[in-house]
Amino acid sequence: MAKYIGPKCRLCRREGMKLFLKGARCQGDKCPFSRRAYSPGQQGKSGGKLSDYGLQLREKQKVKRMYGILERQFRFYFRKAEQMKGATGENLLVLLERRLDNVIFRSSFAVSHSAARQLVRHNFIYVNGKRVNIPSYLVNPGDKIEFKKEKSRDLVKRALEVTKERDIPEWIKRDEKNLCISIVHLPKREDIQVPIQEQLIVELYSK
Ligand code: SF4
Repeated sequence: MAKYIGPKCRLCRREGMKLFLKGARCQGDKCPFSRRAYSPGQQGKSGGKLSDYGLQLREKQKVKRMYGILERQFRFYFRKAEQMKGATGENLLVLLERRLDNVIFRSSFAVSHSAARQLVRHNFIYVNGKRVNIPSYLVNPGDKIEFKKEKSRDLVKRALEVTKERDIPEWIKRDEKNLCISIVHLPKREDIQVPIQEQLIVELYSK
C-alpha cells in the first residue's frame, strides 16, 4: 500500500495543529509546531484567507493525516458512512475511531498511529483470542484486544512510559496491568475529542 514518506512535522504545520505523528517528540519542547506554528513554505507566515473549498479540503486532509489514511480508503469510509443511519459526518468519524490501530493508539499502548499500525501488522495483536493483522479491522462492543507475545508486551510497556499523561476515552477500557483493552461501547461524537468540523468534509464530497 502507498504511504506518505515525507517529513511528518510538516503535516502538522500545514494543518495548523499538532497531529501527534511522532510519539515522544510530540509531547516535548522539541516539537517544531510549538516553535513554528505556521504553514511551511514561503507563503507560510502570511497565510492568506482560504476559500470555502479550501477550508473543506483542509479539513479532509487533516482527518486523513490524523488517522494515517490515504484518499482511496478515505473515500471508502465516506461512502460507507453515507449508507449508515444518522449524520454522515458523525458516522465517518465513528468508523475511523473504530479502526483497530486507532483503538491501540487511543488506549495509549502506542505512541502514534503509525506505531500502533506496526504492532498490528507485525502479528502482535489478538482480538477475542484470534490474531488480527489488519489495521482497518473495526472493533465492536465487547471485543477484547490482547498483546500475548513477550516482545509486543515490552513495546507496549515502553510506549506507556511516554503516553502515561494521556486521557483514555470512556468507550475504551484499558487494563494496564494485564495489557489488554475492552471495548465498552461504540464511540459517539462527544467521545471523539478531536477538533474536526466533519460537516465541511460532507460538503466537500456532496459537490
Ligand atoms: Fe506534529 Fe509531533 Fe512533529 Fe510536533 S513533533 S510537529 S506534534 S509530528
